[in-house]
Amino acid sequence: MAEQESLEFGKADFVLMDTVSMPEFMANLRLRFEKGRIYTFIGEVVVSVNPYKLLNIYGRDTIEQYKGRELYERPPHLFAIADAAYKAMKRRSKDTCIVISGESGAGKTEASKYIMQYIAAITNPSQRAEIERVKNMLLKSNCVLEAFGNAKTNRNDNSSRFGKYMDINFDFKGDPIGGHINNYLLEKSRVIVQQPGERSFHSFYQLLQGGSEQMLRSLHLQKSLSSYSYIHVGAQLKSSINDAAEFKVVADAMKVIGFQPEEIQTVYKILGAILHLGNLKFVVDGDTPLIENGRLVSIIAELLSTKTDMVEKALLYRTVATGRDVIDKQHTEQEASYGRDAFAKIDYFNNQLIVDLVEQQHKGIIAILDDACMNVGKVTDEMFLEALNRKLGKHAHFSSRKLCASDKILEFDRDFRIRHYAGDVVYSVIGFIDKNRDTLFQDFKRLMYNSSNPVLKNMWPEGKLSITEVTKRPLTAATLFKNSMIALVDNLASKEPYYVRCIKPNDKKSPQIFDDERCRHQVEYLGLLENVRVRRAGFAFRQTYEKFLHRYKMISEFTWPNHDLPSDKEAVKKLIKHCGFQDDVAYGKTKIFIRTPQTLFTLEELRAQM
Ligand code: ATP
Ligand code: MG
Repeated sequence: MAEQESLEFGKADFVLMDTVSMPEFMANLRLRFEKGRIYTFIGEVVVSVNPYKLLNIYGRDTIEQYKGRELYERPPHLFAIADAAYKAMKRRSKDTCIVISGESGAGKTEASKYIMQYIAAITNPSQRAEIERVKNMLLKSNCVLEAFGNAKTNRNDNSSRFGKYMDINFDFKGDPIGGHINNYLLEKSRVIVQQPGERSFHSFYQLLQGGSEQMLRSLHLQKSLSSYSYIHVGAQLKSSINDAAEFKVVADAMKVIGFQPEEIQTVYKILGAILHLGNLKFVVDGDTPLIENGRLVSIIAELLSTKTDMVEKALLYRTVATGRDVIDKQHTEQEASYGRDAFAKIDYFNNQLIVDLVEQQHKGIIAILDDACMNVGKVTDEMFLEALNRKLGKHAHFSSRKLCASDKILEFDRDFRIRHYAGDVVYSVIGFIDKNRDTLFQDFKRLMYNSSNPVLKNMWPEGKLSITEVTKRPLTAATLFKNSMIALVDNLASKEPYYVRCIKPNDKKSPQIFDDERCRHQVEYLGLLENVRVRRAGFAFRQTYEKFLHRYKMISEFTWPNHDLPSDKEAVKKLIKHCGFQDDVAYGKTKIFIRTPQTLFTLEELRAQM
């Protein structure tokens, strides 16, 4: 912490707090936020508070200041952690990873983009074309993923509705030569329904607002957002995002990533087909459902390069295997609507009790949910809640309205509550089964596989399977998520971790407000105070300036026999600099902190030589 900022901006590292207490932590966090210092270290962890305004701290000049420097040499910044992770990887040829956590709207996505920009800026000094191409692809992948995976929610105008893990592979010179992105649990149900005040994924609005007239005509679409039932909820919402401009940016990014023109075209056709699907209505004639607006079926067939009667059949019938026979079973109206919606729709628990509650075999929430999902259209969300109450009612971390009837938050008979580490969370069972089931009838997969558009055909290889080959019980979203989380945790455990902890300062997206209550809650569940304690213990030595001088002043001409500096603290700083240990110490208000024991041993040796 050689380059410590003036105390006017608060302490740059929470390790330097006089006492490790919540009030002191919060006072420092608030002071720094108010002074525009959004980053603070806890040793090697960066704590970040969302500034909700553009700060001029990510430019080329700032990048240059962090490049190749030690973590503590510069003020806290994402770039410092990015450089440390990169350097450790290069020096020790060991995999490193950066874990970014925080609640919705805390700034995780923005942080990850700044970190990627930094890595891109400091690598490939010789400008090799192939490396530049890889870097560009990695950088541009963000806006494509955001178009199809982010949406405006009530908490964040650009909320990621999926978890993201990105691997970047470096060659021996330390230049990026490839990458890999894994996505987790995309909230597909958002295609069909959104809460009031929320929108579907950005890509739909981008297409309608930004697509040329000619393109929209070819997709049989009109510009008016409110014409489409799947997106009309959020149609009127003002968003901070310029959809029309983003449309071009995303189209461009898809090209850079390597999408072929016909692939990009197919993406738009799929978006169009989804919007049309949403407007399909079924009418009942006797007990037979019929499609009311037949013209839409032919439009959908055209966009998907398949035949009208095949689309109609996939929507109204289901092919089932009974023993060796394969029969076409007619859908009820409800099944038909469910099938249509399923067709339309491209946190990590570290607390064992909760883990058991959620994933125990046969009686965990996932198992109960999976059971409920076995019976398409028969088990309702309410029946699922009943089953939860019956099987989990006595669990200390589970409660539902029946068990705490006086609780005002639980308005309907439709909520249950889990006592997480971060606090109580009320879950509504509405749509739970549907979100989990997420299975697409095999008939639709086959429909797509038989499309004459090769891009679509390749997207649904499972459509090749005959009905008798299809597994009877496909894995549901929650089970798939659990399995992918286990794989992710194993993967992360093999790498050296660096952490960014993001905090959301208020619920109003305001750059001015530091809501103490909200921030303290996040500091608590992110475990930041414990983090400070652990890091402080990590310092080999701490001593008051007076005592330190008394012991070591003889080793520097600036302090022996007496110093003429304004304070003991300044004298100690001069002494340390004189010996060249400035990168290994931190200066608190009354004490000096020394990181590695070796520094202390050397000081002792120098003293002995005097
Ligand atoms: P979610 O979990 O919902 O995806 P998130 O943690 O990824 O949320 P972001 O999308 O990164 O949150 O941030 C929300 C918004 O806050 C951004 O769209 C931006 O307006 C603002 N923001 C976040 N970080 C910064 C920053 N460093 N500088 C300026 N604005 C920021
Ligand atoms: Mg995000």
